[in-house]
Amino acid sequence: MRILHGAPASAGVAEGPIVVVAAPTRIEGGRIEPEQAADEITRLEAAVARAAAALEALAGEVAAAGHGDEAAIFEAQAEMARDPALLDLARTRIEGGEDAVAAILGATDAFAEQLRAIGDALLAARAADLADVGRRIALELLGRREAVPALERPSIVVAEDLAPSVTASLPRDRLLGLALEAGSPTAHAAILARAYGIPAVVGVAGLLEAVGGDGATTIALDGERGEVVLDPDPATARRYAELRTVAEAAARADLAEAHLPAVTRDGVEVTLLANIGTPEESGRAVALGASGVGLFRTEFLFIERAEPPSEEEQVAAYRAVVDAFAPHPVTIRLLDVGGDKPIPYLPLEPEANPFLGVRAIRLAVDRPELFVTQLRASMRAAVGAVDPAGRARVKVMAPMVADGTDVDLLLELAERAARGLRAAGFEAGPIDLGVMLEIPSAILVGPTYFGRLAFASLGTNDLTQYTLAVDRGNRSLGRYQDPLHPAVLRLVREAVVAAEAAGIELSVCGEMAGDPVAALALVGLGIRKLSMAAGSLPAVRRAIRASSLGRLEAEAEAALALPTAAAVRERFAALAVAD
Ligand code: PEP
Ligand code: MG
Repeated sequence: MRILHGAPASAGVAEGPIVVVAAPTRIEGGRIEPEQAADEITRLEAAVARAAAALEALAGEVAAAGHGDEAAIFEAQAEMARDPALLDLARTRIEGGEDAVAAILGATDAFAEQLRAIGDALLAARAADLADVGRRIALELLGRREAVPALERPSIVVAEDLAPSVTASLPRDRLLGLALEAGSPTAHAAILARAYGIPAVVGVAGLLEAVGGDGATTIALDGERGEVVLDPDPATARRYAELRTVAEAAARADLAEAHLPAVTRDGVEVTLLANIGTPEESGRAVALGASGVGLFRTEFLFIERAEPPSEEEQVAAYRAVVDAFAPHPVTIRLLDVGGDKPIPYLPLEPEANPFLGVRAIRLAVDRPELFVTQLRASMRAAVGAVDPAGRARVKVMAPMVADGTDVDLLLELAERAARGLRAAGFEAGPIDLGVMLEIPSAILVGPTYFGRLAFASLGTNDLTQYTLAVDRGNRSLGRYQDPLHPAVLRLVREAVVAAEAAGIELSVCGEMAGDPVAALALVGLGIRKLSMAAGSLPAVRRAIRASSLGRLEAEAEAALALPTAAAVRERFAALAVAD
């Protein structure tokens, strides 16, 4: 028996025989003579068309199997295949002497590399999708197909990594679980596993060597804790069988309880919303009982491409989410890129301190059209989108606002968007405008501008980073990264008081809202809307339903005077257990 650890990617417990899916064989391209270039380009164009059509067919199959949201992954890949910028780069490489196979692999690699260089997990995962597209086109050129294992009996698939198209093609009735040596929880293999309810652990260092070296034949995995056990002994196998029973019951309970309100024992209701990064995530969030979207990160629309997305494309993406969550509200966040998250068609000066530089709404000074187009698309997606009480269901918020001058800019951009739509004869639906509170200054001077807005949302990830001067991604600074730090809590309290005085809505959409212990502190401080990753909804709902507002308020008041985040966490953790 051997125990390995990786990242939890899809909850649930599985055990069964191992099927190793070998890494795809490496495809090598070659060189051509200059006079062959024209023919090679024609061959490439035909292969692109075939690969894109095959991906669309796969999207159709996945949708027909009842997974409409996940079908979008393959539609997006078909679009990547047809991206004119990709084809242009491949053509240039062919003209430089590469054959079509080398050219398309080189072009997709170059685009994927740009995405990986950004250092964002979500974008790195899209890079893997792009590499998969390049490979599919190359296989078309070679007249070959990717081999997909048949799985003769119910099994657990072990692999270095799996392309999304291979994951979707695995026979689902015989796929008990997935263990991958590479990959991340945000990769599409993991997203698909979650959508299909297949337990998965990814990023398991040394997995393939251990399986091969020990000749392991069976495996047990826990997709919640990220544990993988090779050839479990009888006692471990029994423990896993019990865990599986418990996990299956928990997943059923999560869905069964999804309709229950997050109401404290003394009757105060908290609205639970979802954070999403793509329209495909809507289905699960709705199933787990999200009463709308508190943060729709729109960066996915702007990456992996040579030019910004068209207004039409944005309208379609926003409307898909607005429709999925009807009759609830959807909060679209304007583009949050810049020095720290560069994109190819936005050439920005390298900065010494990108987290303190030209990012998010600050970019609108030089590139207003990017934001005006997003606002126009949001207004078009909002046509007819009002809730039963007649309130706007589409909300748009600006990231990284520092003060009222940034708010003036947002209002001016929105005005330009509405004027432009009217002039072009488009209908503009009603939208509410708001800001993210993630810079301390924006909270401290909130009373000077809150009255010009409909809502604000606390981005506690960045708020903690800027309050404690701690890089949010630096693993060696864990002690400073807990948002339960009393300094952050004081800012939250300040925001609650100012929002109440101005009569605007306030929510929290940082990761803090999805941590059941921290969520209780937020409710104690007066927050009544919490937005989080869909998977966090059940635990936060339970924590709130088990607590009493009276106790939470008293503890929150006391927490403001405590010296450290650790002290606050200890008290709220004890409360979560005691209640
Ligand atoms: C935040 O900063 O808390 C937030 C929600 O935004 P992001 O994590 O996308 O920066
Ligand atoms: Mg932020």
